Amino acid sequence: MMTCIGAMAQKPLIGISTGYSASDNSASVRYTYVDAVVNAGGIPVLIPLAKDSLAAAEAIARVDGLILSGGEDVYPFFYGEEPAGALGGVNYERDLSDRWLLQSAVKMGKAVLGICRGEQLTNVTFGGTLYQDLPSQFPNRPVLQHGQRSNGTLPIHHVNVVKDSHLYEIMGQEQLAVNSFHHQAVKDVAPDFKVVATAPDGVVEAIEGFPKYNILALQWHPEYFAQQGNKEWIKIFEDLVKRAGGNKPVLKEPNIKQPKIR
Ligand code: MN
Repeated sequence: MMTCIGAMAQKPLIGISTGYSASDNSASVRYTYVDAVVNAGGIPVLIPLAKDSLAAAEAIARVDGLILSGGEDVYPFFYGEEPAGALGGVNYERDLSDRWLLQSAVKMGKAVLGICRGEQLTNVTFGGTLYQDLPSQFPNRPVLQHGQRSNGTLPIHHVNVVKDSHLYEIMGQEQLAVNSFHHQAVKDVAPDFKVVATAPDGVVEAIEGFPKYNILALQWHPEYFAQQGNKEWIKIFEDLVKRAGGNKPVLKEPNIKQPKIR
């Protein structure tokens, strides 16, 4: 007897970039990302390191959205800098793979959510730069603790959200309490992206590329909260699922002042 699934609505497939360890010969990602996607109604698909741009494009063609996950520092040659003394370990192969995944996603109009390193890598890929190490390089003092020593489910600092932003449309709050596991951050924001959240010390905490790019990128880790079923933070992943399902957010016209014509 044949069964027919019929025209059942399909959940969007959300690709998640994975960490890559040459020494361990392994690909891996924290389950926080996986559970956050599931809790938001998407199907998580782990994407291992792409060895070339074609492999990345083929993987992206089969998913509806992409999460660029956290990890190592971004290789400073990608934004034209020499390594600062306090630069952490970089992963050149992963940088290449993530850049190909991101470029493919943009070419194919797929929804993207960048998280932590994923936010930094997005900024660099589109022509922005980074502070390689906040404690030694960030000009405003004092610099807050952005490398928290507490559990990731505990918010450690606040961010101020720009009201005219997609992030504000999702969260509906001008101030959010977030976790923080980074010592790098956006310095010069990439063209066509805008800063939509900053920490009280001025560190950039979120950028987005709407309307040109279907990309939201956050410096903190909402997946820690979403994994635990936190309804407020699941909204970030529900938004990704929605954007991946073709229900793109209503994009505002760029706020350009027109000259008065008499
Ligand atoms: Mn932070």
